[in-house]
Amino acid sequence: MAEDPHDWEIETRLVRGGMNRTPHGEMSEALFLTQSFAYESAGAADARFAGDAPGFIYQRFGNPTTQMFEDRLALLEGAETCRATASGMAAVHLSLMGLLKAGDHLVAGRALFGSCRWIISQYLPRFGVETTYVDATDLEAWRAAVRPNTKVFLIESPANPLLEVCAIGAVAEIAHAAGAKLVVDNVFATPIFQKPLVLGADVVVYSATKHIDGQGRVLGGAVLGSEPLMTDAYKDMARHTGPALSPFNAWLLLKGLETLDLRVRRQTANAGKVADLIAAHSKVKQTIYCGRPDHPQAALIANQMTGGGNVVAFDLGSREAAWRFLDALEIVDISNNLGDAKSMATHPSTTTHRSLSEEERVAIGLTQGWVRMSVGLEGPGDLARDVSRALDRA
Ligand SMILES: *Cc1c(COP(=O)(O)O)cnc(C)c1O
Repeated sequence: MAEDPHDWEIETRLVRGGMNRTPHGEMSEALFLTQSFAYESAGAADARFAGDAPGFIYQRFGNPTTQMFEDRLALLEGAETCRATASGMAAVHLSLMGLLKAGDHLVAGRALFGSCRWIISQYLPRFGVETTYVDATDLEAWRAAVRPNTKVFLIESPANPLLEVCAIGAVAEIAHAAGAKLVVDNVFATPIFQKPLVLGADVVVYSATKHIDGQGRVLGGAVLGSEPLMTDAYKDMARHTGPALSPFNAWLLLKGLETLDLRVRRQTANAGKVADLIAAHSKVKQTIYCGRPDHPQAALIANQMTGGGNVVAFDLGSREAAWRFLDALEIVDISNNLGDAKSMATHPSTTTHRSLSEEERVAIGLTQGWVRMSVGLEGPGDLARDVSRALDRA
């Protein structure tokens, strides 16, 4: 009996899932830097374009290396279908545009990655789509926001930057009762620690730029869901609008998946130590980390996540103190990415969330003293020393 990759453990899926060897028998997945593909005959081209014969047509539609990445990520996520995109934002944009049309209504959690807010507030209205923002932790607010034309619910959980967690299963039920689809941006949880589709979501999106690359090199993204939904909502739109992932980047992300589980677990172990150290420091007003029992939604986290992840947020009380902390770091970099092997910290109010008004920031609890740190793979002793010293100087 041939092995069924769906029976494999996660670690095996990450190393071997989706592998499609050429006749050379290469051990490392092949990189196909090719835009198009030649057909044996005019009839063969006709059959392929008609969808009657399998095979690739053009890089914007699909590519063997990109396909290996898509198949491996789908296997990890437990999704029938994955479509890779050139960036996380291309994935978020595609996930919304494929499900919405003029006259529709979107309900979105208020705490979202800055560019997601930008799409929703600047572009969707141009196409006649209205949005209601809700406090994602308040189920009554989701219910109350539903209108007859509500088609999509969008959440990020844990959310950027203050790691607010949303009850994915309960929100999925409200969405489905309203005839809407639930889209979950699962970047902060990673596919290792949270499975939104199992919890009831219809679509999962990733910025593969973050933990999946995990080594600070390339942009990438993915949209995942059931085969019928991915075909109906996204297949043609992706083909014709062109958010395709470069095969070179797909190859890097494919190799990134091989070590994703190892990296994310080590980062999480480091983040737990750093979070405890931060929480115990006298200059820190509040620490939020999904792996700590004092997270405001610890019970919910225990229900839907299997690990705390690598992001820690903490409040130093003022912008001046936050900047003094950042400027005193010697190992940890000041940078706004996350999920990288290298630890980094950022001041969200003046970087990732600067396009929000002060009012909007206050509505999500993001006052000027907050720092967001993405904990990497350095030695825990070095990280502890660097962070403690910077806190002392804050
Ligand atoms: C980074 C990020 C994105 C955007 O991804 P890019 O790859 O930078 O386009 C979207 N959502 C979340 C939660 C992110 O952290």
